[in-house]
Order: sequence, then C-alpha cells, then structure tokens
Amino acid sequence: MDFNLSKEHLELQAKAKEFTETVLFPHEMECEENDGISRETHQKIIDATLAWGFNAPNHSKEDGGQGFSIFEQTILNEQLGKATGAIWDALWYPSYPMRFATQAQKEEYLIPTCQGKRRDAYAITEADAGSDPTQCMTRADKVEGGWKINGEKWFVTIGDIADYILVHAHVDGDSTKPTVFFVEKNLPGVELKRTPLYTHHFAFKHPEYIFNDVIVGEDKVLGEIGQGYDMTKDWFVEARLGIAARCVGGAIRAAEEANKFAAERIQFGQPINNFQAIEFMLADMGVEIMAAKSMLYRLSWEIDQTGDRKLNHAKAAALKLYCSEMVGRVCDKAVQILGGRGYMREQAVERLWRDTRVDRIWEGTSEIQRVIISGQIKKRGLDIYTGW
Ligand SMILES: Cc1cc2nc3c(=O)[nH]c(=O)nc-3n(C[C@H](O)[C@H](O)[C@H](O)COP(=O)(O)OP(=O)(O)OC[C@H]3O[C@@H](n4cnc5c(N)ncnc54)[C@H](O)[C@@H]3O)c2cc1C
Repeated sequence: MDFNLSKEHLELQAKAKEFTETVLFPHEMECEENDGISRETHQKIIDATLAWGFNAPNHSKEDGGQGFSIFEQTILNEQLGKATGAIWDALWYPSYPMRFATQAQKEEYLIPTCQGKRRDAYAITEADAGSDPTQCMTRADKVEGGWKINGEKWFVTIGDIADYILVHAHVDGDSTKPTVFFVEKNLPGVELKRTPLYTHHFAFKHPEYIFNDVIVGEDKVLGEIGQGYDMTKDWFVEARLGIAARCVGGAIRAAEEANKFAAERIQFGQPINNFQAIEFMLADMGVEIMAAKSMLYRLSWEIDQTGDRKLNHAKAAALKLYCSEMVGRVCDKAVQILGGRGYMREQAVERLWRDTRVDRIWEGTSEIQRVIISGQIKKRGLDIYTGW
C-alpha cells in the first residue's frame, strides 16, 4: 500500500497552490469590501485560469475542459478552498449534468462554457422546495414548437453573471417528470426578482428569478424528460467532494494562520503557544484536519476506481458532513486563538469562519447527509462506513 502522492500529483498540488496564492489571494479584500469582485477582476481570473489550464476541470478535453480525475479535482479544490470570498468560484466547473447534453447543445452551451466564453447557473431550489425538491412548483408545459416555463427560483448562485440558467421544472406540473431546461437569461419573461444579501461576501450573487411564460425550443431539454433528479444525483457526488476538499483547504489555511499567530503573539511575557489552552486547540485542529483529509483522499481515489454510483453517493454524504462540520470547528478555534484580531474582517480566519458556514447548508444540509447515511446503514449495514 502506498499513500504517497505521485510526482504528477505533487506537481499539480504545487501548481494549484501557486495559482491560489498568486491569482486569487490578491483579490480577497476587494471581494470583502465590495461584496463581490468587479467584472475586470473576474475577467482577469478567467484569463489566468485559461492560461494555467484550470478551466472546466470536470469536463472532458473533447468538450473543452481538462478531463481531471476526481482525485485531481480534489487536489485542485483543496488549494482553491484556501481563498476567501469564494473567489475560487471564478474558476468554473460547468454543471456536471451538461455531459448528458446532445452534441448541438454541447456546441451551444457546454463547449463555450468550458472555454470561459459563457457561464451557467443551476436553479433547483424554490421558496417551498429546498431539502425536498419534489415540492418544486416550477412547471413546463408543451406548446407548439417548444415549452412554456413558469415558476420562481431562489438562491441562484452566479445568477448575476451567468448568461443562461439550467432550470429544474416539472413537466405538466407532474413531480414524476422532473426535467432540466436550458433557459437563456435574456429571454422574454425571465425576470430578476431580487438579490438578497448573505452572511458571506461571495465573489458572485445568489439572486432570485421569476420565469413568467418563458418560451424555450424543443431542443432545450437537457437529457430526457423525467431525468432531472437522476442527473443531479450523479452530480451530488462531485459537488459534495468539491465542498469537502475546499473545507479541508480552508481549515488548513485557518490552522496555519492560527499556528503562526500563536508563535508570534506575546502575552504575559511569552508566546501564547506556551499556554496549554492554545496548544491543545492547535492539537485538536491538526488532528481534525488529518482525519478529514485522510477520508477525503481515500474516497476521491476510490471513486476513480469504482463506478458504484450508490456506494459513492452514500460515502460522499459522510465525507461532506464530516468535512463541513470539521471546518466550522477549526475556524472557530482559529478565531479564538487570534483573539480580537480574529474578529476583524481583514483577517483570513474571520472570513473563512464566515464563508464556510454555508457548507453545512448547501448541496444538502448536514441533516440531509445524516438522513442519507442512516438510511444506508439501515439498508446495507454499518459495513459500508466501517468494514473496510
Ligand atoms: C448561499 C447559497 C447558495 C445556494 N445556491 C444554490 C444554487 O445555485 N442552486 C440551487 O438550486 N440551490 C442553491 N441553494 C439552496 C440550498 O441548496 C438550500 O438552501 C438547501 O438545500 C436547504 O434548503 P432550504 O434552505 O429550503 O432549507 P429547508 O429544506 O427548509 O431546511 C430547513 C431546516 O430543516 C432541516 N430539514 C429539512 N428536511 C429535513 C429532514 N428530512 N430531516 C431532518 N431535518 C430536515 C434542514 O436540515 C434545515 O436545518 C443555495 C443556498 C445558499 C444558502
């Protein structure tokens, strides 16, 4: 058994670290102070992403992406997660379900998105459909030559800069026919309802959109009618691994900042890392990160070896739950170690503490991950989590 990273993986890790520190870190305070980044900064990051060869890591080279394995995506995401303000989102991962697009749809949407010329947003959540998306009220009705879409979507991440939205709707209002549609944002009937403010200062916005008798062509269905959930289920594995990797990266940066501060900060005539209260917090942080990172690397490697979709889904839920809760505990301790400075927005630990709170909510809340995990334990026994 060899747990060492290969030469290629070490090179990717070093390159991802340098990209994060030299391309993303310089824009963190711009994002914090302006609750987002400017168009110019965004374009700068797009250009750099293309130059560094990090565009669309999750899509095939044939479709204009990098064709990274899950393990390679994990190595990259871990480094990206160190950046605050979710500036990592300026490096785009086009929605996974677009790999089910027709060739014509790929040419119109996926390929230019992979190339950084277009940007997608993915809208499932609604006022009454959150953890339970079957309550979706957005509907698509057949009309001559296409579909008429009506409904309202919440939390549309990147909805401000995306030029098209993948809209999850129920055909004929029937929950057994969940279907995804390509909707151009400039179509008549697509209305920006409002852009709420959130806890974090994210590079982009999460607006709410209304779809009022929006007509799209027959060719705008992604995948098959009724395939909406199946396509997103596959995506959950990739998305949850991405969150877990970024959480590990964020926790590492917070721990490093706290460790450095604790060695330099003098109180009562000595560095505060001489006090056992501080040492023990750093010890717990190190242990928690080690556990989470071991789990992350193991599962990322495993997913590249096996196509067992259900097993991967079950394990990704455990990983996302653990890593997102771990980063909350680590960042909280980092804030504590920095004392009053830890509460200042100019400190990375403060921003990471705030930024990573959402990781326990989006892509399935911690409670929903526990529902999945406990359901798997009932069905298959504890073995899938403990018996290897
Ligand atoms: C910043 C941000 C960006 C987002 N971006 C997007 C996006 O781009 N596209 C998109 O479609 N959505 C997006 N979301 C929505 C996100 O996926 C949902 O917020 C999330 O799935 C939870 O849904 P909800 O907010 O409606 O909470 P609810 O489902 O109403 O849950 C409320 C509480 O009840 C708990 N709960 C619900 N059901 C159960 C259960 N069965 N057992 C135990 N507890 C339960 C939850 O865990 C939670 O604590 C985003 C959200 C945020 C905050």
